[in-house]
Amino acid sequence: LNARLTRPDLLVTSALVGGEWVSADAAHQQFIVTNPATGAEIATLPDLDVTAARSAIQAAEQARHNWAAQTGKTRASVLRRWHDLLIKHADDLAEILTAEMGKPLAEAKGEILYGASYIEWFAEEAKRIYGDVIPGHQPDKRIIVIKQPVGVVAGITPWNFPNAMLARKIAPALAVGCSFVAKPAAETPLSALALAKLGEEAGLPTGLLSVITSTQAALLGQEFCTNPLLRKLTFTGSTKVGKILMRQSADQVQKTSMELGGNAPFIVFNDADLDAAVEGAMISKYRNNGQTCVCANRIYVQSGVYDAFAEKLVAAVEALKVGHGTEDGVTTGPMITAAAVDKVEAHISNATARGAKLATGGSRHALGGTFFEPTVLTGVTFDMDVAREETFGPVAPLFRFETEADVIAQANDTEFGLASYFFARDLGQVFRVAEALEYGMVGINTGLISTEVAPFGGIKQSGQGREGSKYGCDDYLETKYMCLGLG
Ligand code: ADP
Repeated sequence: LNARLTRPDLLVTSALVGGEWVSADAAHQQFIVTNPATGAEIATLPDLDVTAARSAIQAAEQARHNWAAQTGKTRASVLRRWHDLLIKHADDLAEILTAEMGKPLAEAKGEILYGASYIEWFAEEAKRIYGDVIPGHQPDKRIIVIKQPVGVVAGITPWNFPNAMLARKIAPALAVGCSFVAKPAAETPLSALALAKLGEEAGLPTGLLSVITSTQAALLGQEFCTNPLLRKLTFTGSTKVGKILMRQSADQVQKTSMELGGNAPFIVFNDADLDAAVEGAMISKYRNNGQTCVCANRIYVQSGVYDAFAEKLVAAVEALKVGHGTEDGVTTGPMITAAAVDKVEAHISNATARGAKLATGGSRHALGGTFFEPTVLTGVTFDMDVAREETFGPVAPLFRFETEADVIAQANDTEFGLASYFFARDLGQVFRVAEALEYGMVGINTGLISTEVAPFGGIKQSGQGREGSKYGCDDYLETKYMCLGLG
């Protein structure tokens, strides 16, 4: 990997704790980061514990006051420089991301630019943290509302977007004047460390941002929920862990933002543009090898176009190229872990045992390791595991439906409510279905909805809070009401 980097020092092997870079020396436990495509070791990092988290939180508490006292413009200028450095070093950052996570290099670069776009966006928003002046309720009273940063924020992020999931939390937090302690997933901490290194170069004050590398997620999670210096926990990951963190946060009534699991329906109506629907399904289902929380998980196709859609989808899936993310033309990398492959296999065998048919794929890939064949299942029904659980892998299950009312009922029959998608042309139907889907996000005639300018987030057990857009600062702000008596 080093040989592929213009700046090998961006492959950082130390954690950033309260302004100090802590390396994996004899004083610390260690863990190894491996490349999921090859199993090769990429880096050895310190396996930090609660003591390190406490120092980082302490430093963040000290750093936040001066940072919050700066003008929005000053904070914006630092974030802007950070964004520019990420763009400048996007190729190196993409190499590091592909090495630790496996996604194809082009997708990795896309993620770096996507992550950077949040830093740019919130740099711009830093100047626009507006309050209100409300007409007084009595002749001698004046009412003023201001927005203030919540304080020290802790963030826990997953491995599927090692750069962007963190960037879109840190950017709004720092923009409004908070400080931040991050714990990236142990599978993919290197992108977070490179991000922090460039943040330091951009001029982030010492101690404002820490990145704790650790395999001791549960212990750190406990600390992040109960340390009284922390005012906010922002989490992206599974619904199971999100619930644990919310419970743990209850004792100090700590604010939380949660981006949790999804079970996205993707609906194709009879009048849809089928080629566009196939293109949308390919992006929504197979991007990142099916390992995103907004991936189509259940594909509902109306009976009039079911066979035609299935045929076109299978042709597109068979054109995917599975391989190492650094190879030219590869569209699909390995899965992140052996456990992820096991889940995909379990979902497929559960579906086929109950009558689904394999239209393509279905097995581990000839490349071995955690590579898996992109798969399409037809004849899928609601009693199969794929209908209820997030597969988080390259499996498209095709359900057949007859009426709009039926498909809306089936699409909403889940505890999740993150992303949903549908393809239709009839204008009345477009509005009816978009309004009826119980999801935080609806892609209409598109399979790609993520952007920094729009509010990303879920309802029901998919979470709370929104990331990106003009709403994205709210998660990191408190509202203060000042009542002024003219006396
Ligand atoms: P995934 O299936 O994507 O790994 P997880 O929710 O298990 O989803 O992991 C997301 C993040 O949460 C990772 O950084 C992981 O280390 C962390 N994590 C896992 N378990 C806990 C826990 N009990 N408390 C706090 N963080 C946790």
